[in-house]
Amino acid sequence: MMTPQDVLALCRERGVKAVDLRFMDFPGLWQHFTIPVSKLEMEVFEDGLGFDGSSIRGWQAINESDMLLVPQAETAIIDPFVQLPTLSMICNIQDPITREDYSRDPRNVARKAVNYLKSTGVADTCYIGPEAEFFIFDDIRFDQTPNCGFFFIDSAEGEWNRGTDENPNLGYKLRHKEGYFPCPPADQLMDIRNEMMQTMIDCGMDVEAQHHEVATAGQSEIDLKYNDLLTMADNMCMYKYIVKNVARRHGKTVTFMPKPLFSDNGSGMHTHISFWKGDHPLFAGNGYAGLSDEAIYAIGGILAHAPALLAFACPTTNSYKRLVPGFEAPVNLAYSQRNRSAACRIPMYSPSPKAKRIEFRCPDPSSNPYLAFSALMMAALDGIQNKIHPGDPLDKDIYDLEPEELAKVPTTPGSLGEALDALAKDHEFLLRGDVFTQDVINTWIWYKKKNEVQALALRPHPYEFCLYYDI
Ligand code: GLN
Ligand code: MG
Ligand code: MG
Ligand code: MG
Repeated sequence: MMTPQDVLALCRERGVKAVDLRFMDFPGLWQHFTIPVSKLEMEVFEDGLGFDGSSIRGWQAINESDMLLVPQAETAIIDPFVQLPTLSMICNIQDPITREDYSRDPRNVARKAVNYLKSTGVADTCYIGPEAEFFIFDDIRFDQTPNCGFFFIDSAEGEWNRGTDENPNLGYKLRHKEGYFPCPPADQLMDIRNEMMQTMIDCGMDVEAQHHEVATAGQSEIDLKYNDLLTMADNMCMYKYIVKNVARRHGKTVTFMPKPLFSDNGSGMHTHISFWKGDHPLFAGNGYAGLSDEAIYAIGGILAHAPALLAFACPTTNSYKRLVPGFEAPVNLAYSQRNRSAACRIPMYSPSPKAKRIEFRCPDPSSNPYLAFSALMMAALDGIQNKIHPGDPLDKDIYDLEPEELAKVPTTPGSLGEALDALAKDHEFLLRGDVFTQDVINTWIWYKKKNEVQALALRPHPYEFCLYYDI
């Protein structure tokens, strides 16, 4: 763990000239400002640096906008993209007068979640392993594409092939839904993903694997080894920064929006979760799929709170275009050891108790990792504390169930509006330990409804022209 002294020493050793201070805004985009290295003194780690929080999405009103950024030494890295030698750090946000941590700082929510878990005595560590997927597209300028850019966006692997009849000259083009995962030259994104992977390793992240994903239009995945909740949320911020900036270097653009293309797979962020006490994995036992009672109850909590939880884990209007049948995304709130169509899957790759975990398949990478991981942890914890049993597992392919059987399985919300309504009704479990405050819940619902749900509903959609123009 780096201390402030270590950071100052690193700056001298590496000839650092600038220090970039970063924090996560409320919806989930990294923000920053930069100071010359001469302004980074020991006191800054204690006293913080002032900034105007009024223009940050979802934050303070203009009349109470002065805030402090307090850099966290253990998050320091040498920035791999900026020309001037630059060290970057993630910051906590505080009120300059009371010196209290700011309740709408997403990182503060995650810090409180971690502390609350310990205080309950149920577990002392929550490990999180996300599998974020994303699309790499050619970097076209939207002003060059009339009508609506996303209808005409080119894939980074050439025009998407819709079938042999339409386009006999296949070359090394991937067939529809066969992006997972032939070798190069069919996989044209090997080098760019390797560069992303290596940059992550250089920044201290532990990468498990990188690969092409199913969607042929440049869908990719890079998996990080599981880590404790707060470190993993910090790492996901850096992960997105690296993925976007390496793509930029190659004249490409990356999107983490969950469903950029109709009729092809969307991008999920399956999130693996386990609780540990000391070096004892709490989710391993002798029950179904080698799970403990705690793990079964954790599943019960996740499934019971899923509609509300999705307001944070699938937090965009676009998220619900991914959660439809036929694209390996979960649509039913069930659990299973094999079934990838269930919202909770228990991976069976390893017999080791240490590997025992729950894979929650609903989350997508448009989520704010601090809030999504914290909400997931709180739902699992509530399941354990209140012994919420999830009922029987569903080991059949849910997509093939008979209609009567299927009708009994609850489904994921159909829209962001539904998920936000569910959150408005069900958020008691998030308020415990002051982790998500009532203000955070209210502001989230207000912000998402006003800026996303209602803003979208008010605008004519490109597909409406296809449906209605000639009416
Ligand atoms: N892309 C799929 C999803 O939306 C997952 C595909 C996979 O990793 N098996 O969740
Ligand atoms: Mg994966
Ligand atoms: Mg995947
Ligand atoms: Mg997975």
